[in-house]
Amino acid sequence: MDDLSIAELENRCQQGGLRVTANLSEILQALITGPDHPDVESLHERLRARGKRVSLATVYRNLGHLVAAGVVAEQHFGPGKTRYEVATPHDHLIDISTGKIIEFSEPRLNALEEKIAAQMGYRIVRRRLELYAVPLDEKS
Ligand SMILES: [Zn+2]
Repeated sequence: MDDLSIAELENRCQQGGLRVTANLSEILQALITGPDHPDVESLHERLRARGKRVSLATVYRNLGHLVAAGVVAEQHFGPGKTRYEVATPHDHLIDISTGKIIEFSEPRLNALEEKIAAQMGYRIVRRRLELYAVPLDEKS
C-alpha cells in the first residue's frame, strides 16, 4: 500500500535476520511492482516475464522466509488462493461480486481498537480486518 523502496525492504529483511540474496531481492521487486496481492503463481509469472530464471519452489521458499521475518504478509481473502503483499498497516475491503480488493487505512478505527483492547486489559500485537461487501448500487 505504502510506496516502500527496495532498499527499505532489504533493510527490513536484514533486521529480520534474513540474508538478502539476488532471488530474495527479485521477489521483493516483483512484489512491489504490478497489481497488489498476487498469489505465488502470478508472482512467479511476473518474475519470469522480467526475464528471471527462478523456480516456483524458490519463490515459495523465499516467500516463507519473508513471511517469517514479518516483511511480507500472507492474505487469505475468502476461499481463494493465498496472496502475498509487503507487510504494511492497512485493511482490506473485498468486493464479493467482482473479487476486487480495495485497501484502506483509518487511524480512527485503529485508535478505537486500541481503546477497546485496553478496556479489556490488552494491548494489540497483531490485527486483521477484512470487509466483504457488495457495491451500494447492486441489487440483493
Ligand atoms: Zn493489501
